[in-house]
Formats: sequence, C-alpha cells, structure tokens
Amino acid sequence: MLIGLCGGICVGKTSIASYLIDKHQFKRIHLARTATTPPVEKSASNARVPSVEPSPTKGDISFPDVDSLLEFVTLRWRERWVTTDIWDDKVVDTLLRRPFFLLVSVDAPVSVRWQRFKARCATNQLTPPTLEDFVLRNDTHLYATGTGLEALFQRAQLKLLNSTTSLSSLHDSLKSLNLPNGARLRPSWDQYFMQLADLAAHRSNCMKRRVGCVVVREKRVISTGYNGTPRGMTNCNEGGCPRCNNASRAGVDLSTCLCLHAEENALLEAGRDRIGEKSILYCNTCPCLTCSVKITQVGISEVVYNQGYMVDTKTAEIFAESGVKLRQFSPPREGLVDLSLGQSVNATAGAEGGRKVEDVREILNSDNFLRPVQ
Ligand SMILES: [Zn+2]
Ligand SMILES: [Zn+2]
Ligand SMILES: [Zn+2]
Repeated sequence: MLIGLCGGICVGKTSIASYLIDKHQFKRIHLARTATTPPVEKSASNARVPSVEPSPTKGDISFPDVDSLLEFVTLRWRERWVTTDIWDDKVVDTLLRRPFFLLVSVDAPVSVRWQRFKARCATNQLTPPTLEDFVLRNDTHLYATGTGLEALFQRAQLKLLNSTTSLSSLHDSLKSLNLPNGARLRPSWDQYFMQLADLAAHRSNCMKRRVGCVVVREKRVISTGYNGTPRGMTNCNEGGCPRCNNASRAGVDLSTCLCLHAEENALLEAGRDRIGEKSILYCNTCPCLTCSVKITQVGISEVVYNQGYMVDTKTAEIFAESGVKLRQFSPPREGLVDLSLGQSVNATAGAEGGRKVEDVREILNSDNFLRPVQ
C-alpha cells in the first residue's frame, strides 16, 4: 500500500511517516521539488521559515515526478510505502486512481503548530519568525487560491487532527488507529452493504427518519429500499403523510402512517421467491416490530443493522424465536479523527478514548515537547 500524508507546516506528517517506518515496515519515498512544485510548498521550507521537511535520508527513494513514483509503487504495491509529498491536484488525481493508495490529511491548531515550530527553531539554533509571519505563511500554504492544501484535505479518505503534545502520545494514538489496516483501502462485505443501505437512505422522503435497506443473497444485491409514501402518492416530505408531518413523537400513531418502511419496500421489490435461504438484510436502523415479522415470514436468514431503534429488544426476541440471526455492525465513522484523545474516535480503532487534554504549560515545559514533532 501507499500512504500519502498531506498537511501544513508542523502538523506532524514526518513524525507519522517515521512511526510507520519504525513500527510497520514502511519505506519512505519522495517527490523531487522541481520547477512545477507549487512555489508555496518550496517557500514553506526556505531559510526564512526553516525546514519542516528534512532532506531525504540515505535509503529514501526520490522521483522526478508523480508518474514515475506511481509506476514504481504499482510494481511493488504489496510492500508498504509512505510519502509526505502531496501538494497539488495533479499528485492526488494520479495517486487516487490506484486501489492501493490511501490519502491521509493531517491538521493541527495553528497555536500548537507554532509551538512545535519554535521548538524546531530552538533545536536548530535559529531565530523563529514572528507569530504574524508564521500565520501568514501558513495561510498561504493552506488557503492560497488554486494552490492551497486545504482543498486537498477534503479528498482525504482519513482526516487526522494532530494536537498531540508529545511523540509518545502521538504513537499511542497511531497504534490504536492502525493506519495500515487493509479495510481502509477496500471495505469488508459488511461495510460495503451497509454503505449501500446508507446510500439508499439518502433517497428517503419520509419526514420522520431516513432509513435504507439492502437485501443480499450470496453477496449479491437482490433489492434495495428506502422509506416513504407508496408510488403515485405525494411524497411524505411534500405533505403526503399527515401523521409523519405533524410533530408526533417517533412510534406514536403508527397505524395512521401512510409511509412504507425501507425493509417493506426492499422485501416487496425482491419477492419471496428470490429471497430464498441464506439471504441477509442490511438496514441502517434496527427493524421495527411489523417489519420484523415480515422479514421472518419471507425467510430472511440474517439481519444486520447499524443504529438501534426504540424496540430493539422486542425485535431481537422475535428474531431469536424465529431463528433469524440478528447482529449490529457499525461501519467506521467518517470525519475527523482527533489523535489527542489518545484513542481514536474512529469506530474501527477500538475503545473510545477518554484522556483529557493536558495542561498546556506542563506540555510546553516537558522534554518531549522540545523534540521536533513534525
Ligand atoms: Zn413518512
Ligand atoms: Zn407517515
Ligand atoms: Zn419497519
């Protein structure tokens, strides 16, 4: 696999790359800074703002352009590679074509980066620029029209917020995050079908709740469904169901509701004959009671849901009695992963972290802080 780390000055890209090299047998590769490199990327490491990117160390491999880098890694994609030279759309467009590439953005509060930067200056016996100069340089680096890195962050499959205050806490967080996990490149079947159910939910027109469902047999989709009023009727969100459009609480006056549930739609679409044995129903929400009995009757073998609903226990009882397997699967949460929480907030990373942010004064005085944390 190839991991590309994209981020501003002193966000910790090199520290993360070093961790991958030390702990996960990655090898670092570089893109040469040439005439086509955005000027701001070069100026981020000029003498005025001292180097945040150490020059390639012995053994690192450097390429004149992204095409030759990609060619090299394509032939060796089962090995582990990491680069921090992700600086424009051309680089990202080229690399994202390949199934072995993971784009990871790294960000950190400017105050944290400024402290790291001053520490770096001290280590190199250089006078730091003023804070204003540092902020302006960062703004250009991240937000300049056409060349700012911020636009690339939006394309990252994984977004990290690194306000960790020591290398050891960064390493702890990275350990629990397990960046090289292959599921980041290619979703598991559960993840794939649950994401399809989520996608179906986006077509829901019911005012009460977005629900989506996929019926799968032998890893093939038989049907999909989402909730809303029946065909030919006014959509629920356009006033089609009076019950859904008044403010009654979830679960109240269900008998007057005109909306079909996602599961009902998926079952009607599939038909009993096509469902047969060994069919699995994926639903982003745990089925309600009336759906549960229908699911049981058509012979679904297993129900996989993501979020709970108010009648989970009753639903579970129905399925237990009728022999339908029920389990919960929550795909990795998208969005920002805050490394300073010690444990990742990402669902794939295990337990939720609860470590509180340490006292900044203590951090600034600690030995660890004085080590370069790029
Ligand atoms: Zn509705
Ligand atoms: Zn309704
Ligand atoms: Zn239902």
